Amino acid sequence: MMKRYRYWFVVGTQHLYGSDIFDIIEARAKTMVEVFNQKVQPFADIEFKALLKTSDEITACFEAANHDPEVAGVMTWMHTFSPSKMWIKGLALMQKPILHLHTQFNAKIPWDAIDMDFMNLNQSAHGDREHAHLYTKMKKPRHVVSGHYEDPYVLEQIKRFTRVSAGIMESRHLNVIRFGDNMRHVAVTEGDKVSASIQFGWHVNTYPVGDLADELKKVTQNELREQLTKYDQRYHSNTDQEDAVIYQAKLQVGIRKLLDRHNAKAFTTTFEDLHGLKQLPGLAAQDLMFEGYGFGAEGDWKTAALLRIIKLMTNGEAKGSSFMEDYTYHFEGGEGFVLGAHMLEVCPSIASDTPRIEVHPLGIGGKEDPARLIFEGREGEAVQVSLIDLGDRYRLIVTDCEAITPFEKMPKLPVAAAMWRLKPNFSVATEAWLYAGGAHHTVMSYDVDAQMLEMFAQFMGIEFIHIHQHTNLSDLKRQLGQG
Ligand code: MN
Repeated sequence: MMKRYRYWFVVGTQHLYGSDIFDIIEARAKTMVEVFNQKVQPFADIEFKALLKTSDEITACFEAANHDPEVAGVMTWMHTFSPSKMWIKGLALMQKPILHLHTQFNAKIPWDAIDMDFMNLNQSAHGDREHAHLYTKMKKPRHVVSGHYEDPYVLEQIKRFTRVSAGIMESRHLNVIRFGDNMRHVAVTEGDKVSASIQFGWHVNTYPVGDLADELKKVTQNELREQLTKYDQRYHSNTDQEDAVIYQAKLQVGIRKLLDRHNAKAFTTTFEDLHGLKQLPGLAAQDLMFEGYGFGAEGDWKTAALLRIIKLMTNGEAKGSSFMEDYTYHFEGGEGFVLGAHMLEVCPSIASDTPRIEVHPLGIGGKEDPARLIFEGREGEAVQVSLIDLGDRYRLIVTDCEAITPFEKMPKLPVAAAMWRLKPNFSVATEAWLYAGGAHHTVMSYDVDAQMLEMFAQFMGIEFIHIHQHTNLSDLKRQLGQG
């Protein structure tokens, strides 16, 4: 699922200091790239691309970066001074994420040997300020990372940039299939699909659920057996209603074939539109999420797309990301806790233990009892993420939380569930969420954090709100323009 993109490292200089410094700079850049690759591989490849010395070279480089589908981003660093007017044309054309690396090759000043030649060669302190001024003046989004290039902080930031940039490439090419429309009368799952296409690159299109019903008829015994074997390998069966499980396997094969046919990596369903289907996709939707597809219930295409992008960003090192819904609260000892779940569709990647397949009635939707996976979410630091459409703009809202084990067993709860404590506390976090207009549907992720999502929002040109350990409600309201 992870796409291994390339990232170009380009180094700015100019002809002012004579050409004999170019070999030195290039050798240094190549040494640095080796260090970067130790951190980012096997998920990304960083390449030294060029020393950029003139306006024409710079423009050609960014044009090439735009056109190369394997390149997801460019890292810039000014080894010497490199006058920024040379960079305007190229940066104006650049459409992919940029990391401005503010660093220096030598860690220490050579006290005995330092002279003016040394000063002129090692002057990123000077050159990167000229470079950064232009980004600011052009309102060009970029991720700025500052520190010595071998510093673990710097290497971690480079890695994060590559992962977010892979998510942005995914976003720019993402197709989302909706089986049926949004749930009737619901506001927050709605949105302008045209503006989403402009903002994020997503193609969101609806297909009749009848197409899926027809597809189910074409599922072969072999395909079914293969899917059922995967269930056996991944989950415990805790039901004798085998037909219900087989039907979910059939749904999963059918949905996957339709998604693959349309090159779609995310989908939505709705219990209000199941004509021709016997069950709401439960186990099928859960296992498709486990395989890396994005999913949103009740027609929630924004959350479906967001989940796919977050899964893509973090695949390879993933601890878990799922579609989630704030469901009910628990108050005890002066604290409040959230129990999250859905009517069926929580991704087993967040399970604390091997999920079990069970079949229970589903009161909503008026169909047969669907097979589903039941489990508890695991403990750990996590985020809840909501993307909302405010009419004239999008807002990404992230709230930090600590996932915990539910205090007691819930033997009568027939769905997967996760429990968490909000930061800084229940009241401030939920008040902030409600002021910000966050949805009841979220992506719950143990893999991304607010910084990666802020980077994503910045490159996408959308609003970003972070609710965290130090959130102050007055400041947040001011940020929202509500007080
Ligand atoms: Mn829901």
